[in-house]
This record gives sequence, C-alpha cells and structure tokens, in this order.
Amino acid sequence: MDRNDSHTAGTTGRETPVAGGPNFIEEIVAADLAAGKHAAIVTRFPPEPNGYLHIGHAKSICLNFGLAAKFGGRTHLRFDDTNPLKEEQEYIDAIKRDVRWLGFDWGEHEYYASDYFERLYAWAEQLIRQGQAYVCDCTAEEVRAQRGTLTEPGVPCAHRERSVEENLHLFQRMRAGEFPDGARTLRAKIDMAHGNVNMRDPVMYRILHAPHPHAGSAWCIYPTYDWAHGQSDSIEGITHSICTLEFEAHRPLYDWFLDALGIYHPRQIEFARLNLTYTVMSKRRLLELVRDGVVRGWDDPRMPTISGLRRRGYTPEAIRAFAERIGVAKRDSVVDVALLEHCLREDLNARAPRRFAVLRPVLLILDNYPEGLVEQFEVPNNPEDPSSGTRLVPFSRELWIEAEDVREVPPPKYWRLFPGNEVRLRSAYLVRCTGVVKDATGAIVAVHATYDPASRGGSAPDGRRVRATLHWLSRAHAVPAEVRLYDHLFTVPDPDAVAGAEWRSLLNPRSEEVLTTCWVEAALAGATVGEFFQFERLGYFTVDPDSGGDRLVFNRSVTLKDAWAKEAAKHAP
Ligand code: ATP
Ligand code: MG
Repeated sequence: MDRNDSHTAGTTGRETPVAGGPNFIEEIVAADLAAGKHAAIVTRFPPEPNGYLHIGHAKSICLNFGLAAKFGGRTHLRFDDTNPLKEEQEYIDAIKRDVRWLGFDWGEHEYYASDYFERLYAWAEQLIRQGQAYVCDCTAEEVRAQRGTLTEPGVPCAHRERSVEENLHLFQRMRAGEFPDGARTLRAKIDMAHGNVNMRDPVMYRILHAPHPHAGSAWCIYPTYDWAHGQSDSIEGITHSICTLEFEAHRPLYDWFLDALGIYHPRQIEFARLNLTYTVMSKRRLLELVRDGVVRGWDDPRMPTISGLRRRGYTPEAIRAFAERIGVAKRDSVVDVALLEHCLREDLNARAPRRFAVLRPVLLILDNYPEGLVEQFEVPNNPEDPSSGTRLVPFSRELWIEAEDVREVPPPKYWRLFPGNEVRLRSAYLVRCTGVVKDATGAIVAVHATYDPASRGGSAPDGRRVRATLHWLSRAHAVPAEVRLYDHLFTVPDPDAVAGAEWRSLLNPRSEEVLTTCWVEAALAGATVGEFFQFERLGYFTVDPDSGGDRLVFNRSVTLKDAWAKEAAKHAP
C-alpha cells in the first residue's frame, strides 16, 4: 500500500486510520518552507459558481484553509467563473455563506477569474504574437474528430497555419462581437500528435454572446477553464495549487501556458476526490434532483450539500473533524457515510442538551395517580456534561409515551410495557401496566397502568428489578411538533458509479418520513432554527427553518445507533 493511502480513514477498503502524522501535502509544504522557497504559503479554494457546495468541497476547503492556518499564510476564495451559461449569483452567495459557516475566513482575498479577463485576453494576444495560438474556424464536432484518441494522434486543421497578423485580426473581431456563437475559437498551438490529449491544441476561447453574473455584458468571448485556471493562480501568487486527481493530466498544459507567458509557477499538487456512500456528489446530478423537485431544494436535509448538512443538523465542528479523520489520499475511494454520522454523534454527544419527545404517541393513564396533581421532576440536561445542570419536567396522570414501547402480547425479550409488566418512567416513577385500549382496527390507543408512589425519582424502594426505562411527556404540558426522519437518499452504496439515466431509479422512496403528530417538552417551544438536542432514546434533532410562529419542525440529524463505532470495535485487535 502506498504510504500516502495509509492516512485515509473510513474508506470502503476499511483502512485503519493513522493518528497524528502529517499527510503527504503537509510534507511537501513543510519541505518547501524548509528550503526557503516561500516566506509564507498562499492556497486557494477555487469553486465554479455553478451549484451549491457539497461535502467533497468541504474536504478541499478544510485542506486549503487548514494548511494556511497550520503553516502560516493565507487562503483565497476565488470563483473560477468562466462559464456564464451555468453560473449564477445565487451560487456565489451560497458558496460564501457555506465557507464562512464552516468556520473559515478569506478576509479581503475574494477573487474572481472574471476580474482577470482583460489580462487573460492580453496574454492570449501575446501567445498569438509568439506564434503559439491561432484562430480556428472548425466546429466543435470537427475539433473533436481531429483530436485523435489515446492510441491515435490528432490531425491538424488548415487554420493552424494562419499568419500572426490574420490571427490577431480575427481574435480582435471575435472580441468585438462580429461572429456568432460557436463560429470560431482561439486554440493553443502545441502538438496535435502529443501523447497527452490535453496538449493537442486545446481551445482557449469560445464565442458566447451571454451576460456574466460577475462581469456583466462586457464580454462575448470567454476563456476556457484550462486557459484561466493556471494563470489565475499565478496572478494571485498561489504557492501551492491543490486540486483533485483529474487535473494531473492537465498539469503539463498549465505548465506550458505559464512557460510560454514567462510568468510565475505555482506548485500544483493533486489529491483524491471524496466520495460518500449512498449519495451522489456530481454537481450535475445534484442540480437535477433540485430542478426536478426530487428533494426540497439544495438545502434538503438528505442532500450531501453543506447547506443540506447544516439543515440536517450537522455542525461545522463535526464536518471539520470528519475532514481531518479521512485525511488526504492519492487514490480515489468511497468513504462510508457512517463515519460522517459518527463524527456528528461524537460532537453532539458532548454538547447537545437532552430533551423528551414522543414521536408516535399513545396515551398512558396512571389510574391511581391523583387527578389534577402535577409534580416536577429534575432531569439532567446532559449526563456527559455535568456543568449543563438539570431542568424540571412536569409529570401528571395522563402521559404520552411511544407506541413502540407498548405491546399487548410481548415478543421474546421485550421488556417494555405489556399487561402485568413494570417499567421505569425516566426520573419519575415505576409503573405497572394493567391493560390496553384498542381502536376498531386493533391499534393500541391508550394504556392503563398504576404507579408506585414509593418509587419517586424512578428507583425501586426494595431494589426490585425493572428492565426498561421509558421517556414520557405530560399530556397537559407537552407541545405539538412535526418531526422529519431521514434515511439514505439512495438504495445502493455507490449510485455515482452508475452511468446513464439508471441512477435515478436507485433513489430511496423512503428517504424521508414526516411525522405530524409528535409531542415535545414545552421547554422546546422557544427553540431557534439550528439549535440541536438529543431526544432521549431517539437520536439527535435540530430545529428546521420551516418552524415559525406556533409551528415547530425538527429534523432528525442522526439516530443514536453508531454503526461506525460498532463496526470499528468488531475490527479492533
Ligand atoms: P465541476 O465539474 O463543476 O468542475 P467540481 O466538483 O470540480 O465540479 P468546483 O467548483 O470546480 O467543482 O470545485 C472547487 C474545488 O473543490 C476544486 O478545487 C475541486 O478540486 C474541489 N472538489 C470538488 N469536488 C471534490 C470532492 N468530491 N472531493 C474533494 N475536493 C473536491
Ligand atoms: Mg472543477
């Protein structure tokens, strides 16, 4: 195994995480600094504003900002906005919001490739004058056909031999708007027989009569990503240009451009993309889910977008811890989503206040409890954090409990409520079931029980054994809420690997379950959007932005069952 891969935790290959230790990118940066190459490092996060950021981008954000923080330096936020047809201001705003929410600050270093368009144009003219670029009249299909394949060289077209004067003149007329979309391109004159297909006279400019979200209507020719990206890094003095593996094959082209122009060379380092099980990460597919209304929007809690994870109840701390845990690798892998969930549980277990909530209520009536009496029981806010104190939870004769905590006929090993059995109501009393009431369909709608007044606080006076402890809410005091439960968006671990339209058939029809008849503690009535809680025995929940006025909506962020920890324990030596 490549030693760099050993820093990857939680891949489907189940590699063991290596604690501590610098990753291979940190080693490169440390060596460059030790060699005196830079006084301080400059990294950048360069999104194209053509969609919302996802957890893969979060990995890149944490990596770039993390390096600058660790080694001293700064990180730029640069929008690589070279394709106005797919880019929107909404995406620019969302990207800034998400990076900030993750906890990173680019200060005044907010840049746009489109702010360099004038300089890129001048550089293109320089290449034309140097005989290293030409205007080509071939259609996109013709260019593709001439390009050759991995095994066959490409063939040059007649326009390749145009004079410098003719090229300059035509390029200026392209900019002046004299030609329709697609009529001509500017291409680099490199080598149509080059072993690397990216070097076979790639397109640098295309004609596109379309306004730009940042540059307005100043341009009708737009640079390609390949022509803009390396020069943008150079202009900004980026020391370490970190990108995903697919750009390895573009590196010779970026080097060729920088050499031809005679300008500063950033050092490009490639790392593996993050993929997550049971979701898609392709922006095109995510956009399709949003556009077709398959999900509630880019911030749907089932989406792997940063805004979706935030709405789901993920914290920036959990996402940063996850990015740290998975590390950086040089080989593509798919990380188990259970590891991401594990990171959230670790964070929330320490910080989330505990509350009672009943999602599928049935009424529990304590026949021997005085009518009208209300007792207040002291319940710890978070046993993991004694400084969080306690709260008082009201108790009365009629209580809500979970339907699944009651059976008329118990299955084997069922220790909760059934006629004759005694359970503990958490922090309150021991109660013994005396019977159930069913509706016409046979569903249990109410449960009768008696309580033991001597068990106040929930402990048996004679030490008798009670095997189940249930959560509960006083009927007269609870407030109503809607609760949304989530499952994986897809039914298979790697839907992104499925080509064609087939991937849509792999959507999980039960990825969202909306429960509208839930009850929660009255103390939750004032909870604000994004606040997080552990609902005892049910999982971690957060307040959804659909809440407001009297309406309370919660999203379940994760259940309490930690599949990752369980699996890890099984594999432990
Ligand atoms: P596109 O196909 O639109 O280029 P993209 O996912 O590469 O999609 P960008 O906006 O170009 O989106 O990405 C910005 C930065 O985030 C790039 O530096 C890219 O390398 C990095 N990035 C994108 N996806 C991932 C991923 N899954 N894991 C890690 N880094 C990623
Ligand atoms: Mg990209």
